[in-house]
Amino acid sequence: MNALKTIRNYYFYCGIEKDEYNAVKKDAYISNFEVWKILHFLMAAVFCLLYFASLQNSMMETNRWFYLTGFIYSVCAIVCFFILKKDSIFAQFLIYISMSFLFLFACFINLNKPENNATTFIVLLVLTPMFMIDKPYFMTIELSVASAVFLIWMHKVKPIDIWRIDFVNAVTFTVIGCFLNVIANSLRIREFVLTRRIRIQRDTDEMTGLRNKGSLTREINEFLEDNSTDKGLLFVLDVDRFKYINDVYGHDVGDDVIIQLGGFLGRRFTNHEIVGRFGGDEFIIFIQNTNDLDSARKTAEDLVQGVSKSVLLPNKEKGVSISIGIAAYNGRENNYSELFKNADIAMYKAKADPENRFYIYE
Ligand code: GH3
Ligand code: MG
Repeated sequence: MNALKTIRNYYFYCGIEKDEYNAVKKDAYISNFEVWKILHFLMAAVFCLLYFASLQNSMMETNRWFYLTGFIYSVCAIVCFFILKKDSIFAQFLIYISMSFLFLFACFINLNKPENNATTFIVLLVLTPMFMIDKPYFMTIELSVASAVFLIWMHKVKPIDIWRIDFVNAVTFTVIGCFLNVIANSLRIREFVLTRRIRIQRDTDEMTGLRNKGSLTREINEFLEDNSTDKGLLFVLDVDRFKYINDVYGHDVGDDVIIQLGGFLGRRFTNHEIVGRFGGDEFIIFIQNTNDLDSARKTAEDLVQGVSKSVLLPNKEKGVSISIGIAAYNGRENNYSELFKNADIAMYKAKADPENRFYIYE
């Protein structure tokens, strides 16, 4: 049973668990996209050269139209690579089509000298699987269909004894190609898993599991730099008299308050808000695509109420009090520190005013 599970994992998820595979799938798509974008330039150049060579060389004349088609196809595919998103499923589909086109090319090349054994086709059977990180069974389908088409076609064209050798070669190298694909993919996918783990570790605040300062700054700056959007709300949230909590209840209780508050914010903001711990007892929430101050007020009230009810000190009687400063982004502030400074000023106003737990920067 275990052996079956392992084989299934390798064949469907490159040797890692399904969830882990799905988490890094897009990274693999992006890598395929980048590799095949370059390969298409190479394809265009090769087809172009072959076309001009076929104008000079009478032996290549039979395939002249195919070389031209190959060149036009490669150019169209390159255009698609500039239009499609790197991680789109269409780009992956396009790559499989290009692969099929290359196999077709190898068949046509063989027509130049049908009395020779196929070499380009066999080389492609082992080479192409090394350049595609995807579920290995897709590659098995691709290689098997290509080999079947090749053998059926060549059966009509080639002397039978030559075809028999081609048959043995095609079957053998299809199996080898599939096997190499499984090995190459399982090695490459582990690199993506490792990179992802390092990325998560770099971006995560250890205590709360939310974003850390670096990640918050980077993501909010990316949003502010994006010219297609010019609305946002930044909330800076700080625990009131946290030093007192540490002093009276101990550092462990202080830590627990931070953890509870992080958990509360994580549960409260589950849409695309950017939420994290800036450091110490200070948290940041950035809500994208809105600068509606009424809804900002409502959110701040909810937060003050929610924290006082959910984030509790050991005697369970007292909830924790927080102060919030809010700054609206209207497309003018072009970096995070400017917006943060405004929200911080508002937060200190709230700290100084016992009647109001939040302020909006104006
Ligand atoms: P204020 O109401 O003005 O915010 O006063 P405060 O006492 O909360 O002061 P401030 O926010 O400046 O204090 C933050 C304190 O949090 C300082 C530091 O000792 C403590 N602190 C920072 N990081 C941690 C942590 O990870 N765990 C614990 N327990 N305490 C921390
Ligand atoms: Mg504080």
